[in-house]
Amino acid sequence: MSTNRERFFALQAQTTDHPMGLEIAHAEGIWVTDTNGIRYMDLVSGLAVTNIGHRHPAVIEAIKSQCDWYLHAMPYGEYIQAPQVELAERMCTLAPAPLKNIYYVNSGTEANEAALKLAKRYTGRTQLIGFQGAYHGSTHGSLSLSGNEKKKTAFRPLLPDTDHLRINVFEDLERITHRTAGVILETIQADAGVRIPAVGFMQALRARCDETGALLILDEIQSGMGRTGKLFAFEHYGIIPDVVTLAKAFGAGMPMGAFMAAPEVMASLRSKPMLGHITTFGGHPVCCAAALAGLNALIDERMMENCEAKGALFESLLNHPAVQEIRRKGLMLAVEFESFEQVHAIYHACLERGVITFWFLSCNNSFRLAPPLNITEEEIRDACARMSEAMNSVLG
Ligand code: PLP
Repeated sequence: MSTNRERFFALQAQTTDHPMGLEIAHAEGIWVTDTNGIRYMDLVSGLAVTNIGHRHPAVIEAIKSQCDWYLHAMPYGEYIQAPQVELAERMCTLAPAPLKNIYYVNSGTEANEAALKLAKRYTGRTQLIGFQGAYHGSTHGSLSLSGNEKKKTAFRPLLPDTDHLRINVFEDLERITHRTAGVILETIQADAGVRIPAVGFMQALRARCDETGALLILDEIQSGMGRTGKLFAFEHYGIIPDVVTLAKAFGAGMPMGAFMAAPEVMASLRSKPMLGHITTFGGHPVCCAAALAGLNALIDERMMENCEAKGALFESLLNHPAVQEIRRKGLMLAVEFESFEQVHAIYHACLERGVITFWFLSCNNSFRLAPPLNITEEEIRDACARMSEAMNSVLG
């Protein structure tokens, strides 16, 4: 075995028979360069992570400077670590009341697991409710509340006492009762192919949770951190969840997740039992330093301001007759075609033209776009010209 490609296939566990297989050498801004020196526009931000672009200089600087002080020092919640505290202050200032307490974890699924536990512990109830089409992560609890049966069956039994409602179906909300500990929903469903709940439905969901005392958990792991033009996607709906979960772009390129809730709700994790949720690496100081620098860049460089206009530009330029529908909020897009085969062929044709798109876990006739929010108008035009050429080559 001599090449990294050979070693990758032989030694690293594979998750699919058809990995992208791009051998990366360097990444910067919206660009990824492979080991042959070919440059690709990353229009999916490494799967909704690099919202401020790859290797933002402020993030690199923050990582380097924290490395001069300390790396891991103690599990989460024991030592007082300045990067954690500074990030907490910024996030708790930006988030609306009552979301004034933050708990750091390492990933999205871990944030959701903890939020589900929090709902059970706080309410003393057992039932957890999710939605059809949802993706909340790959661990047992998150998978139990996710909606894609094909991905779940092989791993049963999963969590007992769960139910799945349909988005925008008001009558389903009646199934949230005084037995329900928590209801989890992606504010905008990502892997279902960008499914956007109606404002009225979200407000009715909030009201039903209030009525029954169930905690409303909004998973903003893909839709948060500016992706839709607002820091939190729930800001589009005039509601505030009891718990919001974050990851992906939250770490600005470092592995990092978090959940935010009211201090009195969060307090239930510290007694009966004490250490109700713990993590060794959650809130790693280097990740917190990166996250804070990323958050500051997002805000100071006003990356959310033109998000809607940029999304609209993508939408207007991707007007091939074979496009059946574009579902979009800000810079979170699903471009739908008649079949999976078309999407597959277009994805490859885009890659050949230096554009990275990707599919969805639960919507195989659409491809996703989630470019860095600081993509320029010129880059959008360039990307769409390449994608149009790709679509023409495949579909005529
Ligand atoms: N929630 C949503 C909406 C996601 O899109 C994902 C990942 O794609 C997760 C949770 C799980 O996050 P992670 O892969 O960091 O565990």
